[in-house]
Formats: sequence, structure tokens, C-alpha cells
Amino acid sequence: MAKKLKKAKAKASAGKSTKRSVARAGKAKPSASKPQAPGKSSAKPNTDPKRVAAILAKLDEAYPDASCELKHEQPFQLLISTILSAQCTDVRVNAVAQTLYPKFSTPEKFAYANPAELEQEIRPTGFFRNKTKSIMGASKKIVEEFGGRVPQTREELLTLPGVARKTANVVLGSGFGIAAGVVVDTHVIRLSNRLDLTHHSDPKHIEQDLMAILPQNKWIIFSHQLIWHGRRVCVARKPRCIECNLEKLCYAKDKTYATHS
Ligand code: SF4
Repeated sequence: MAKKLKKAKAKASAGKSTKRSVARAGKAKPSASKPQAPGKSSAKPNTDPKRVAAILAKLDEAYPDASCELKHEQPFQLLISTILSAQCTDVRVNAVAQTLYPKFSTPEKFAYANPAELEQEIRPTGFFRNKTKSIMGASKKIVEEFGGRVPQTREELLTLPGVARKTANVVLGSGFGIAAGVVVDTHVIRLSNRLDLTHHSDPKHIEQDLMAILPQNKWIIFSHQLIWHGRRVCVARKPRCIECNLEKLCYAKDKTYATHS
């Protein structure tokens, strides 16, 4: 009896394992992108200059005019919109900006605003109390210490409340055309890993890796191109690899393939 039971269990287990193997062989299963933790990967990213140049050429081909999707007429507005864009979509920030900037048309108006009024204006972007503090603090500093103008160095920008490295890079790159760094947002983190240009997951190390392999005149447009590609094609959950012009250069683990029915 015990012998029979043992045999039956072994058969069932073999069946399950075969089914799993067939499923794996038949269809590539997309999974969420999981960049490597810093220092955890043994293999080096494939940053062969010819491969990097080919990736840049493909991005230029697909997105020759990629630019910042936060609408702005001057660097100060870009600074405010970038602060508002934390944990919020550019589309929503642009909608808020449409009524915000006509009402608060100068740094002084933001600096000495009624906080409750400003909070209500920017409420749809989320975290509106903290964002109000950052915006008013940054504006006050710009008015009182920088003569009403947004500073043009990273060191000075980083002294403004609510401004970290990414915001400083956005303002310098898209506001002033100064290539001081590479903007690393969630799309750049995901895509630079999928394209095997870095194995890091933290923005600081990714930026260092990218700055080391990209020509400086590409630092600004490269992050716009990756952000555009990440929003349109190489989306987080199920990248549309079949539509991707980088497909031949990409061997990401979570590439999706056409499945046959
Ligand atoms: S092939 Fe797929 S995973 Fe690779 S970059 Fe293109 S969309 Fe992203």
C-alpha cells in the first residue's frame, strides 16, 4: 500500500514539473523590472562604445525632438513645475500650471503667497503642504539671495528648499541648456538597466555610470529620450518590445515576445 502511494506521489510531482517546463518554454513571461542593487551584480554592464553609439543612434531616430514634457516659459516656472512633479504625472502638473502661473506670475508672488491659497492651487498634485513649503522657501531664497533669478550652478540650486540633484539637473538642462548631469528618474532607472548600461538601482550611481559612457552633448537629450521611450514603448509592466526599434540591441530579462496562439 505504502509503495503504491509513493509511486503515485512521484508521478504527480513529475507531471507538475513537466507542465511548468512546457509553460516556460512556450512563452516568455514578463516580470516587473528589477534593477540590481548597487554592488550586487558580478557581470559588468555592456557599455562597449560601439553598442552605446548604436543605442544613441536608435534613440535619435525614434525621438529626434525629445524634450521636457513639463510646460514652462522660463526656468523659474520649470523649477516650480519640477517640484510639483514629485509623485505626480507631468500631465496633471501641466493642468495645474495653466491656472497657477497666471495667478503667481513672479518669484515674489510665490515667496510671499498666502500658504493656504497656494496649497489649494496645487492640491491636485498631491503632497501639497510639503510642496507649498518647498515652493515658498525656494522662491523666498531666489528673491532674497539670488536677486530674483534662478541660479545657474548645481551647488547654488541645491541650497534651495525642495531641490535635490534631479531637480537641479532638470532646471540646468531644460531651463538653461547646461549639461551638468544626467536626469535620472524612474524611467531612466528602468531603461538604463534593461539596456544593460548600468547595474545600479540608485540614481546617484546610475548617473555616474551614464555620465562615464555618454558624450556630454548627449546628457540632456538622452534622459528625455529614455523618458519618452519609457512612457510610450518600454513601459514598466509589459514593455512593447515588438514596437521597439532598440529590440536588436536589448537583451533585458523582461523583454516580451510575440506569442503564437
Ligand atoms: S526591447 Fe523591450 S525591454 Fe528592450 S528597450 Fe525595447 S521595449 Fe524595452
